[in-house]
Amino acid sequence: THVDNPYVGAKGYVNPEWKAKADAAPGGGRISNNPTGVWLDRIAAINGVNGGMGMRAHLDAALAQGAGYIQFVIYNLPGRDCAALASNGELGPAEIDRYQTDYIDPIAAIQADPKYRNLRIINIVEVDSLPNMVTNTSGASATTTCQTMQQNGNYQKGISYALGKFHPIANVYNYIDAAHHGWIGHSSNFERAADLFATVAKSATGGVATVDGFITDTANYSALTEPYLTTNTTVNGTSIRQSKWVDWNDYVDELTFAQAFRNKLISKGFSPSIGMLIDTSRNGWGGPNRPTGPSTSTDINTFVNQSRVDRRIHAGNWCNQSGAGLGERPKAAPAQGIDAYVWIKPPGESDGGSKAIPNNQGKGLDQMCDPQYTGNAGNGNNLTGALPNAPLSGNWFPAQFQELMRNAYPAL
Ligand code: BGC
Repeated sequence: THVDNPYVGAKGYVNPEWKAKADAAPGGGRISNNPTGVWLDRIAAINGVNGGMGMRAHLDAALAQGAGYIQFVIYNLPGRDCAALASNGELGPAEIDRYQTDYIDPIAAIQADPKYRNLRIINIVEVDSLPNMVTNTSGASATTTCQTMQQNGNYQKGISYALGKFHPIANVYNYIDAAHHGWIGHSSNFERAADLFATVAKSATGGVATVDGFITDTANYSALTEPYLTTNTTVNGTSIRQSKWVDWNDYVDELTFAQAFRNKLISKGFSPSIGMLIDTSRNGWGGPNRPTGPSTSTDINTFVNQSRVDRRIHAGNWCNQSGAGLGERPKAAPAQGIDAYVWIKPPGESDGGSKAIPNNQGKGLDQMCDPQYTGNAGNGNNLTGALPNAPLSGNWFPAQFQELMRNAYPAL
């Protein structure tokens, strides 16, 4: 059976590998029983990397836990992470055949095993990929790899193939990644993103019905709600949309963005029963620097900077953000149109190394992870706000784990 919201009335699978790392850290036991995403970030992850758990091991452990749902992240597109370098993957831009045959097919075969039919299997489909096709193929933020992926169409092909393969399995749920408000909330991107998602879903076997919903803020830091700002806020008659921080965005936080984007997606042909997920693993912004009320400044930039709970230097900063905290704990049906708050990025896992680190996964050094780098068009030429001494993306980063717990909001 296929329910409307797979999170309702179901206990989430706790990944024992993440739990062990959290439990081994001082204070980590306070949060180690939360469900987090299991990232299938390469073909070898299906069977388990270096003796680690593979998909079947996770699914069997979920049954043993009596879990109601398990969350996998489908993350291995050809030419992956085309606008950045920290999570480039193993498949080159043209390797769509390997993606389909060696990655999606075996995942679908395992998920279709009747042994798992009473478990709700949630697939988070390809983080950042379609959003990159909207924002990073032309203009100042364009990259050569994103342009290549637009021209060969392999992000679209890969995703529509995956949706069509997973959807026939009745207990599987597909949520497509929709980046976050700082990215898709701009009017120049909002409509185009919805159009692209609709085109891709319509080209899948099964069409728009293959999509159960969308997820925002995966592995990002955008605040869930800005209690002291709205898009209608003005300072001396001037809209805060004109501030450097908001930069003409139509949204100031994830919740309002996710709800509005859901309506837009439904207007493009998606089912009115789609629901949104918001990754609240690292968007809490608590701790001593959290504002306790709106600023009284009459300068628009000072007002916004003193009022916002998101303490990043720029909303385009995305790597190992200093000052960030854990956000809302995973929770089903927390708000209208929202299926769940989820922890997809496992707290304590790095977004990328601060320096070049040799590896055989295709991962490069992205300067956005270097605290000394002074920025580019994507972050308004600001400092990156990244924590120093970070390991390779996906690797355990003890200092970040402590920082996230320290700045948790709600506090631990
Ligand atoms: C990395 C993946 C990792 C995931 C979760 C991504 O940034 O590229 O390898 O599994 O984060 O930590």
